[in-house]
Amino acid sequence: MIKDTSSIRFKYDDKVDSSEINNQNELKELKGHLLGSYLRVDKDIVPEISKIIDEVKQNITIQEKIEAFIYPGSTPQAGCYPGNTDKEINIALSSNLVENLNKEELLYVIGHEIGHHIFRHNTKLKEEQQDLKIGDLFSLQCQEISADRVGFLASNDISTVASAMVKVMSGLSSKFLTTNFLPMIRQIDEVNISGYASTHPFFSLRLKSLSMFSMSDSFYKFKEIKKKATFTKDELDDEIVKRIKKNLFPPEFIEEEKILFLIFVNIFLADNKVTKQEQNILRKLFPDELVNEFLNKIKTKQRDVKGFYHDFFVNQLLALKQKNYERFNEIKAQSITYIRDLPVPESDKKTVRDILNEI
Ligand SMILES: [Zn+2]
Repeated sequence: MIKDTSSIRFKYDDKVDSSEINNQNELKELKGHLLGSYLRVDKDIVPEISKIIDEVKQNITIQEKIEAFIYPGSTPQAGCYPGNTDKEINIALSSNLVENLNKEELLYVIGHEIGHHIFRHNTKLKEEQQDLKIGDLFSLQCQEISADRVGFLASNDISTVASAMVKVMSGLSSKFLTTNFLPMIRQIDEVNISGYASTHPFFSLRLKSLSMFSMSDSFYKFKEIKKKATFTKDELDDEIVKRIKKNLFPPEFIEEEKILFLIFVNIFLADNKVTKQEQNILRKLFPDELVNEFLNKIKTKQRDVKGFYHDFFVNQLLALKQKNYERFNEIKAQSITYIRDLPVPESDKKTVRDILNEI
């Protein structure tokens, strides 16, 4: 039976725009390159790897045809590429990865790559790798969190996932490693940097995320395990996104995020009520602290919430203007375009537009 994996998707991993589907010529070219240069996994040439792929297919119940290729590479790497049709997945594995990881660990890595296909992360063939904006990096990091969950389902064992990650992270083989991976999970708690531009979350965070996932209601439900979960999926996803943002976004971005939040809040408050839909938009886009504080003010019917957020917005803008005039002007211009495209009545946008124009 094919199981629906959409329920385990990381909630901040947004669906890819379907307009980004590749053209047939590009796909043909890619397949030609894979077939021409790499060794295709065939049960007569590399039977063990062929069996592993069959096992992954069984564990995550997918019917797509998986074509795996191996190339000579001195670092442990893997990639997933779109097939000629939606029913085909191409996967590339470096020789170093295949040589250094054991069978169970490969289940996880291959499952992870298939995860990218399941969630349609790889619909775009040529990712513009240079000049990725911070928002793009954020999306890519969120995709890794979703794909990891499929990898975990493929291997079914958290310590196997941990050892695979430790091997890929360190480049070591089993020779030097024990099976105690707790210190590696704890490593993330000592990471104290922000503004670190990367397409992947830190390994220690990915492992922490999976270890929490293995105790979440989302995983239990998927596996039909009747046990009380330690985390709800929302708790899990909110905790992980907080960590991703903390490492990826520079501190000034957090300040600017607050301005964006205040734009939304002031527009939503224009009609004196905040609908369920508007609350969901806020929850999806902004940190819990900001949203909870706002909703609490509304719930407890504190006097003049609208006035409070109006003043808060003005003060934030003035502070930014004083600190960095150039950036202030950029944000102002961006915000005006942003507001223009928001699907809310013109009259609701007016207050915010007036504030931006006056300051
Ligand atoms: Zn990946």
